[in-house]
Amino acid sequence: MAVDYTPLHVAAEGSARLGRISTPHGSIATPAFAPVGTQATVKALDPRDLAELGAELVLANTYHLYLRPGADVVAEMGGLHGFMGWAGPILTDSGGFQVYSLADRRQVSDDGVLFRSHIDGSQHHFTPEKVVGIQEQLGADIIMCLDECAVPDDRAYVELALARTHVWAERCRAAQTRSDQALFGIIQGGVFADLRLRSADFLVGLDFPGYAIGGLSVGESKALMYEMLDITVPVLPADKPRYLMGVGAPEDLLEGVARGIDLFDCVLPTRLARNASLFTRHGRLNVRNAAWARAPGAIDEDCACYTCRNFSRAYLRHLFKAGELLAYRLATIHNLHFLLQLMRDIRQAIGADTFAAFKQEFLAHYPIVPDEVRAQNRDKRMTRRRQ
Ligand SMILES: [Zn+2]
Repeated sequence: MAVDYTPLHVAAEGSARLGRISTPHGSIATPAFAPVGTQATVKALDPRDLAELGAELVLANTYHLYLRPGADVVAEMGGLHGFMGWAGPILTDSGGFQVYSLADRRQVSDDGVLFRSHIDGSQHHFTPEKVVGIQEQLGADIIMCLDECAVPDDRAYVELALARTHVWAERCRAAQTRSDQALFGIIQGGVFADLRLRSADFLVGLDFPGYAIGGLSVGESKALMYEMLDITVPVLPADKPRYLMGVGAPEDLLEGVARGIDLFDCVLPTRLARNASLFTRHGRLNVRNAAWARAPGAIDEDCACYTCRNFSRAYLRHLFKAGELLAYRLATIHNLHFLLQLMRDIRQAIGADTFAAFKQEFLAHYPIVPDEVRAQNRDKRMTRRRQ
C-alpha cells in the first residue's frame, strides 16, 4: 500500500478529524497544509527551510515540470525527491488545472487535451495515460488523475466535463504501473449539488486510496464552496484521506477542516509574501506601507518564526522597497509559518475537543477578504498572465 490513512480522532462536535497519512517518504499529520513548489521549489526557500517550518508535504506541478526540465530529466536525477533535495512526502497534480489556466489554444476532446506551451508555443497532448506516465517519472508519493476543470456555473459544460473526468479517472487507474504511489480521484461537478454527488458516488465506486475535491475556489463565492463541501464530504469513505485542492486562505482552512477535509494546498501564502502581504491573527498587513518605515516591532509579536524573532517591520519594508532578494525569503518564511502553525493549532484543538471554540475565536479576530475584492484580484492576475 503506497499510502495508508489512519483516522485518529473525530471532533466531538462537527466533522473535523485528526489522522495520519503514511507514505514511502514519511508520514503527514492531518489536517495538513502543503506548500506549493510549482517548479520543484517553493519560491525563495530551500528544503531545509521547509523542514524547519514543519512542512510535511510539498506539492509540485506536473504541467510545469513536464515542459521544463522534462519528466525524463527529473527521472534520471532520481525523481523529484532526489532532484529537489526534499526527502519528505511529495504530491503532484495532474497538470490539468494549468493546461486550462495557463496554456495557449487548448482543445479538449474525449481522448485528452491538446495545448500549446506557455513557454515556447510548442504543441503537446495530455491524455489520462500520459499524465499518469509523467507522474510516475516524477515519482511523487501522491499523484492525481487527469480531470477537466469547467467554468463552475455553466451547467451544460460542467456535465460534459464531468462525464469526461469520470472516464479519464478509469483510464488513469488502468494506466498506473507503480505500486508505491497513491493515485487520487478528483471530484468535480462545479457548483451543482447533484453533480458533485454524482461525481463522488462514481469515484468512490472506483475505490481510490484518496479523494480530491477539485474545481472549487475558482471564482465562486465562499458560501457556495462551503455548501459544496457540506454535500460532498459526507459521502466519502471515512478511512480515506480527503484533499481540497487549491485552497489556503486561513478562514477556508478552518471551514474545510470543520467539514472533514484532511489536506490542503495553495500558492496563496507564498504569492502574498512576494507581494509584501503578510498574515497576522488580525488579518493581512502590507509591509511596504509607509506607516512601518520606523516600526521597530516584528510583523507579529506573538509569531515564533525566524523572521519575527529577528527582524523589524522597518527592515522588511526597506528590503521590499530596495528590491532585495531577502525580502521574499523572510516574508515567505513568515507566511508559511503562519499557516503551518495554524494547522498545528487546529490539530491540537481537535485532539482536545476544542476545535469549534478555536475556530470561532480565530474567525472573530480575522477579517475575511470579501468575495468582490477576491474576484477583482483574480481578474488582475489573469490579465497580467495574458500579457
Ligand atoms: Zn513570523
